[in-house]
Parts: sequence; C-alpha cells; structure tokens
Amino acid sequence: MGTGVTWLKCPGCRLKCRPAAVGAGGRCRRCDHDGLLRLTLGGREVQLVPETRQG
Ligand SMILES: [Zn+2]
Repeated sequence: MGTGVTWLKCPGCRLKCRPAAVGAGGRCRRCDHDGLLRLTLGGREVQLVPETRQG
C-alpha cells in the first residue's frame, strides 16, 4: 500500500499508458516511439474531505 501509480507518456503522440500495457521494449504501441517518459501519480496520499453537515 502507498505505492504511487506509474504511467508512461509518449513524447511523440502524448499517449498515456500503463507500463504493463506497453511492449516488452517499452515502446509506444501507437507510434512505436522509444523512450517513454515515466510519470508517477499518487505520490501523496489523498484524503477525502467529509461532507459538511447541513441542516
Ligand atoms: Zn506514441
């Protein structure tokens, strides 16, 4: 738990996909671009704000 979600972004076509979705060589599946950028999301824990009571 606590592991951020990692996405790969293609600098060519700006396609975002998960590392598990790309090929073995880490190439873009759309334009076959090499050297995808790694984006890490969810590094911080997001705390849900409780609903304010009304009435
Ligand atoms: Zn691409």
